[in-house]
Amino acid sequence: PEIWSAEFNDFISKCLTKDYEKRPTVSDLLQHKFITQVEGKDAMLQKQLTEFIGIYQCTGGSEKARHERLYTKKSNFSRSLISSLKDVDDLATLEVLDENTVSEQLEKCYSRDQIYFYVGDILIALNPFQSLGLYSTEHSKLYIGAKRTANPPHIFAMADLGYQSMITYNSDQCIVISGESGAGKTESAHLLVQQLTVLGKANNKTLQEKILQVNNLVEAFGNACTVINDNSSRFGKYLEMKFTPSGAVVGAQISEYLLEKSRVIHQAIGEKNFHIFYYIYAGLAEKKKLAHYKLPENKPPRYLQNDHIRTVQDVMNNSFYKSQYELIEQCFRVIGFTMEQLGSVYSILAAILNVGNIEFSSVATEHQIDKSHISNHAALENSASLLCIQADELQEALTSHCVVTRGETIIRPNTVEKATDVRDATAKTLYGRLFSWIVNCINSLLKHNASPSGNDDELSIGILDIFGFENFKKNSFEQLCINIANEQIQFYFNQHVFAWEQNEYLNEDVDARVIEYEDNRPLLDMFLQKPMGLLSLLDEECRFPKATDQTLVEKFEGNLKSQYFWRPKRMELSFGIHHYAGKVIYNASGFLAKNRDTLPTDIVLLLRSSENSVIRQLVSHPLTKTGNLPYSKTKNIINYQMRTSEKSVNLTKGETGEATRHARETTNMKTQTVASYFRYSLMDLLSKMVVGQPHFVRCIKPNNERQARKYDKEKVLLQLRYTGILETARIRRLGYSHRILFANFIKRYHVLCYKWCEEPPLSPDTCATILEKAGLDNWALGKMKVFLKYYHVEQLNVMRKEA
Ligand code: ATP
Ligand code: MG
Repeated sequence: PEIWSAEFNDFISKCLTKDYEKRPTVSDLLQHKFITQVEGKDAMLQKQLTEFIGIYQCTGGSEKARHERLYTKKSNFSRSLISSLKDVDDLATLEVLDENTVSEQLEKCYSRDQIYFYVGDILIALNPFQSLGLYSTEHSKLYIGAKRTANPPHIFAMADLGYQSMITYNSDQCIVISGESGAGKTESAHLLVQQLTVLGKANNKTLQEKILQVNNLVEAFGNACTVINDNSSRFGKYLEMKFTPSGAVVGAQISEYLLEKSRVIHQAIGEKNFHIFYYIYAGLAEKKKLAHYKLPENKPPRYLQNDHIRTVQDVMNNSFYKSQYELIEQCFRVIGFTMEQLGSVYSILAAILNVGNIEFSSVATEHQIDKSHISNHAALENSASLLCIQADELQEALTSHCVVTRGETIIRPNTVEKATDVRDATAKTLYGRLFSWIVNCINSLLKHNASPSGNDDELSIGILDIFGFENFKKNSFEQLCINIANEQIQFYFNQHVFAWEQNEYLNEDVDARVIEYEDNRPLLDMFLQKPMGLLSLLDEECRFPKATDQTLVEKFEGNLKSQYFWRPKRMELSFGIHHYAGKVIYNASGFLAKNRDTLPTDIVLLLRSSENSVIRQLVSHPLTKTGNLPYSKTKNIINYQMRTSEKSVNLTKGETGEATRHARETTNMKTQTVASYFRYSLMDLLSKMVVGQPHFVRCIKPNNERQARKYDKEKVLLQLRYTGILETARIRRLGYSHRILFANFIKRYHVLCYKWCEEPPLSPDTCATILEKAGLDNWALGKMKVFLKYYHVEQLNVMRKEA
């Protein structure tokens, strides 16, 4: 509308010119740019416009009267124009709810640096790609306990909503942040934690500081630069902040999911290793400690060599890395790690880089077997010394392996290829386990601060920030896992926003318009179903010694009968998946090895003999081949039924099902694949999420170039479409997002109509009386529940506070 206002003035002045002769004809008028622009965009304006043209066309009566009527219309018209100019904070209240209106609204606001919107109770966040000064202490104060309509939409308002709901309903909350890679999930998660620590009024300053450091610390180890995002999360993170029932923050717990360990040994073109490697290189160089950690100063370690890093000097002199090193060391200290622990962390990181530098060459033995031999002993010695193990034993474990046949142990040599695999597997496992160990330490350090009275009445707000949907030029096993995880989060969103809600209309006989939405369940089934889902097929193929990545793809093709799967022509080893967020072509090269993710027992046993207690801890628990054991307990498991026959609700709370069984299996199972661990992790994550009342933040990436103020209409439309934002707006407008049992409703809100001590009858009539007294409309009564619009709840709570 802002861009129309110039045209509007031109249009009006032409129509109302005193010089009648010069007035445009009706057909000319209809060609006017203003009209063509308004058409179909804004219902109110359109209506005014039609009326205006109607009067303009009118030939009866005096010209003066007509002129006057036009003049009156003109002011109505400008008023509508102004109101349509006004930013709409809640897209669910838009007059016209179609793609173009929504997109235009977003574009207009984005150009004025408004990046937040509501869709009912859901927050949309457009990545501004610039600092907008929206997160100051003043902003923070503005959103504490404020009415939603009192301020523009904001991420702080979501923190407040979660916090107030936690206290009001005395229940756990969960904020789910979704969006593609680079859309702003991690930034949003930080802002939520920041505001929640303010809300939680940690009188214990130290605890507050500790909580604020957690994200920075784990992200230094779990984030990396990709071609899409310089600070891309390579793991899923669920941070739970713990509160007392009165809302004082008492601690935090963090769960990590599916770290992309393969990044340690290899990075795609234009990408980097995990941040921490660069930070320590620069920081330790500054402190003249590179030699102490046996880090080379001449040539970058192999694991850091790529097109970004040509010389070690590039890293050492990088002032950003240096400052980050200081920051991370500070985080470690504030959270409570000891200097000794910190030294071990650096040693393990340095060991990983040194392990990567070990090289092998082949030597022919008398038995004609290709035996490998370590060609650079310095790297071997360095690695062994940093890992506090014997160099010759490390050499042995890398270049040979034990086979037990008929009770006899035979030592067989490793080929160069095999030895290289063992080397890389060692590095990956060390890193993965170090990451889990750090997370585990953080958890015990932050648990220490929990209320002395015990944790039974503790409440929590969980914040989910996972790796976003990815589609690179070349996509591998890692992208597949990342994208399936996103598929699962989308499914959860759909279940919550559409399926469960609409199911309740049916159960409770409430008349509400059915909103169609894109159900991605068939896709999830294709991935997760047993025994014919993609992950099961992958596991099965991994059990065949003779299987190759080629036979795997053929197996997929032969067994996956789904419209979402296809084989691109003339692209060997490739297969395509039509995800909810778009089509992705995967290259299956390396899938089997990545899924098997084996680390020989010899290496594990050797590391268990380390003189460094941290290293021993890393490998002390029963080995699962993925390296990362789930540390979180699996309570309140959800039962994700994959039976196709089951049509309605397929994510039910409270039951103990496949996930617990699986959890039990995994602890006993020694040979676990990444796929089965992945499946388990997803369930563990969902089980945590469904315990709390969810709130959703949907991050949108306005352009691929990461430019401020650049709004790529097509790109945004695509995201609006695949996240189902329009449908969400519709269901929020037409549906009832809050359903409360009569008894609970009456208990809570009877004060609006009855005396506090009065006990009105538990009947729908009582509910109706309360609702009418409160002056609300558009609610409905079911068989057992009151059905409310998202905006009713706040109104009721405000009235209740005042009563
Ligand atoms: P991934 O899935 O790859 O982890 P992500 O969704 O977590 O991506 P972020 O890392 O949060 O994406 O955001 C990418 C970049 O966008 C940030 O590094 C920052 O530069 C910018 N950005 C995101 N949100 C904001 C914001 N609210 N204000 C300013 N800049 C932002
Ligand atoms: Mg992120």
